[in-house]
Amino acid sequence: VGALKQRIANVVYRLRAKSFAYTIGGAICVGLMAFGSSSANAQSPEYVPGEVLIKLRGKASAIQSQAFIGKSVSEKSMSLKGSWPGLNLHHFALKPGQKVEDAIAELKDDPNVEYIEPNYIIHRQSDGIEGNPVAMADVQAAAASDVTTFSQTLAPISLAQAWAAESNNASSPIVAVIDTGLDLTHDVFVNSGAIWTNAKETLNGIDDDANGYIDDIHGWNFVAGTNSPQDDDGHGTHCSGIVLGTSQDITASPIAAARVRIMPLKFLDSTGSGSTSDAIKAIYYAVNNGAKVLSNSWGGGGYSSSLVTAIAYANDNKVAFVAAAGNASSNNDSTPTYPANYVVPNMISVAATSDSDAFASFSNFGITTVNLGSPGVSIWSTYKNNGYARASGTSMATPFVAGIAALILRESPSLTGYEVKNLIYGGAQAISSLATKTSTKSRINVYNSLIAAKAATPTGSQPKYDASANREPASASSSSSGGAAGGAAGCGLVAKAFSDSDGDDQGGPFKNLIFFGVLVLLAAPIAVAMALRNREISAAEHRRHPRFQVESSVVLKLGDRQLTGQVSTISMGGVQIDTDAWLEKGGIVKMSICSPDGKEQIEVEGAVVWSSEQKSYGVQFSNADAGIRSTISSWTRGLVKAS
Ligand code: CA
Repeated sequence: VGALKQRIANVVYRLRAKSFAYTIGGAICVGLMAFGSSSANAQSPEYVPGEVLIKLRGKASAIQSQAFIGKSVSEKSMSLKGSWPGLNLHHFALKPGQKVEDAIAELKDDPNVEYIEPNYIIHRQSDGIEGNPVAMADVQAAAASDVTTFSQTLAPISLAQAWAAESNNASSPIVAVIDTGLDLTHDVFVNSGAIWTNAKETLNGIDDDANGYIDDIHGWNFVAGTNSPQDDDGHGTHCSGIVLGTSQDITASPIAAARVRIMPLKFLDSTGSGSTSDAIKAIYYAVNNGAKVLSNSWGGGGYSSSLVTAIAYANDNKVAFVAAAGNASSNNDSTPTYPANYVVPNMISVAATSDSDAFASFSNFGITTVNLGSPGVSIWSTYKNNGYARASGTSMATPFVAGIAALILRESPSLTGYEVKNLIYGGAQAISSLATKTSTKSRINVYNSLIAAKAATPTGSQPKYDASANREPASASSSSSGGAAGGAAGCGLVAKAFSDSDGDDQGGPFKNLIFFGVLVLLAAPIAVAMALRNREISAAEHRRHPRFQVESSVVLKLGDRQLTGQVSTISMGGVQIDTDAWLEKGGIVKMSICSPDGKEQIEVEGAVVWSSEQKSYGVQFSNADAGIRSTISSWTRGLVKAS
């Protein structure tokens, strides 16, 4: 991941004009993206050199899928950087020196391939701050002497009225700010208690909630692969301050207790750039861990079926997705900006207006594809290093909308993302500068939307995601049936979540999306190894230790990733594990095995000694001491012996 970050930071690889039409899934996709408020002209999409995302047909466990991966590694010198097994979506590094467009041309017609696309590069939708960052005292002094300092956030969008009208309820919705991270030690966030805490996780080196991320107490850093989404750019902290500032005064001292929770998910690096594969990981993380609103002040790249699928997953889980329209002064109706242009019911595409309700000159627009205006010119907010700063961009306009969504959900927590969107639209005020710029011709009004939310009756319903509304229908259809939000959690629950997902491809698998690390996922012999069960070792194992049938869960630790599975038999010598993950035969895995009653847990290492095409693996303990054997013995007392 560090290497990826470096590559994104150091290499800006642009396709030549000639090659920016890709054939993906049978349709021509021309992706154009400009970024930064100074970029007036659309540019060809950037992507991470030497990487592709490939979705295979059918299930990940199918022999054909495994054979494709095995062949890609052994014959094409590709390497697997990770997989979403539930989607049969895989992130590959190409053979060194191979061009992305050549790989796409070679593999797009492979009968196993549903689609193949570049791993596009994404950028934040702001050029950075105006002037130097200042301390809170400076902002307070400025606000006291100059009432216009915060006029943008107080006057036109009726913030003060909204706060006065707000219900005094206990709900504090989670807004995921998918960005450059958050200054986790900033006084505003610390003293208000605004930073989301994962109540199911403890700082102990173990993935307590079995969501695939170790010690993810305050979100995740997808750039570095760590549990610290500390902001090394400042953009994410600025956006987070706007989300928080939509529900309270972020310059007050002492600061009031937060009414919303910010889940910081860092996927943009210190230069504000990141990859589509990391954006997708962040979206699944947010949805699976309880966020109801996703604030996305970023864009870039060409059309990505994988990214659409992730947004549709958020939609299916009733989560609102707010996206910046872009800062290229261009028309998104004719020159799409992604992700803002994806046609998913929970999507809100946001343009920027000034404090005098003028249309921001840098902002993208589109009477069909851009939805509404929101303040985005010289906005004061929090900044890294415990600071404050002003910044402009649709990046700033977006978190105001996410903030309103959170206030709406405080009034009525069971609203769907689509219903929240309609309440935001319904409360927005028509302004003349947006008459030809956005679909609602309106700019947000927090008070109006809040009042509308008080009167709203949640139906829980929303339109089905219409894949045909997007440009790549085949690619997105797999997303139409997500399960309920929330990942597996803890001993016992893991087994249930796993069995829920162990049926067909309709629904469950999305719950357990786990992106796993490079080293696990092996090399050429996998297809063969998976198909051949080593009966000799298995039989020897049987002779030494009686095996018992159990229904219990296991967490497998592989590098910095964790996977979940189900234990179907156990002995003092080893376990049989069922999992969607691929384990390399001969590989060593660290396991946390839950007792059948879910009350106890043992930590033990073992070697994968056999595997079968049924996603089943035999793991022989390599360090089971007397204590572990005694514990297993107590667990298996009275259980049925396996044949
Ligand atoms: Ca975790």
